[in-house]
Amino acid sequence: MAQAILIVEDEEKIARFIELELLHEGYQVEKSQDGREGLDKAQSGQFDLMLLDVMLPGLNGFEVLRRLRRDSNLPVIMLTAKDTVMDKVAGLDGGADDYMTKPFAIEELLARIRLALKKSSASDNTGKDSVLRCGALTLDTLKYEARYDGRLVELKHREFELLRVLMENKNIVVSRDILLQKVCGYDYMGETNVIDVYVRYVRAKLDDVYQVKVIQTVRGVGYVIKDSEA
Ligand code: CA
Repeated sequence: MAQAILIVEDEEKIARFIELELLHEGYQVEKSQDGREGLDKAQSGQFDLMLLDVMLPGLNGFEVLRRLRRDSNLPVIMLTAKDTVMDKVAGLDGGADDYMTKPFAIEELLARIRLALKKSSASDNTGKDSVLRCGALTLDTLKYEARYDGRLVELKHREFELLRVLMENKNIVVSRDILLQKVCGYDYMGETNVIDVYVRYVRAKLDDVYQVKVIQTVRGVGYVIKDSEA
């Protein structure tokens, strides 16, 4: 699906010029000439990026940005007519992702748009990847929470790490050695069967409670978590 870009710029000629270039590049484009209207549109959640002029009727660009940032991470590139350090500092401090000084080369603007979109989709993905799932089991690696069927499972640090490694390698058998390195660290000097002990702890908190078999033993090799057939 085409990415949508909002242009908030009161100079019609500039706005039209950018719009044509963006359409040519395959983006969806919408324009606004007024700061207040631009803010409303930006808050609608329909856009992937906003180009925002500083000197605008209604609300100026810095004020639009300030209000937008209360509840939105929408990538914003400021368009400023004045090449003053103050403007740049104010724009970036206010949460702009980038800024362009007018007049600018369109190629440079397009490159910065691509970069800002790439950064924002990368951070979106990080957000999604922070939750690992396997059947009814979910592991939120940012909140450090494990849940089975939505119910919280209290795990100690190494028990959580054990599940994390197994879930990151879902359907792949992970050897005891690898588990030991990842769960206990490379310099771990204790008993190698410590992994079996953690597996036992996790089973006591998961399998025994929910009558399931989350971690499978592969004799002589290690352990695996498989997608449940159910
Ligand atoms: Ca302007």
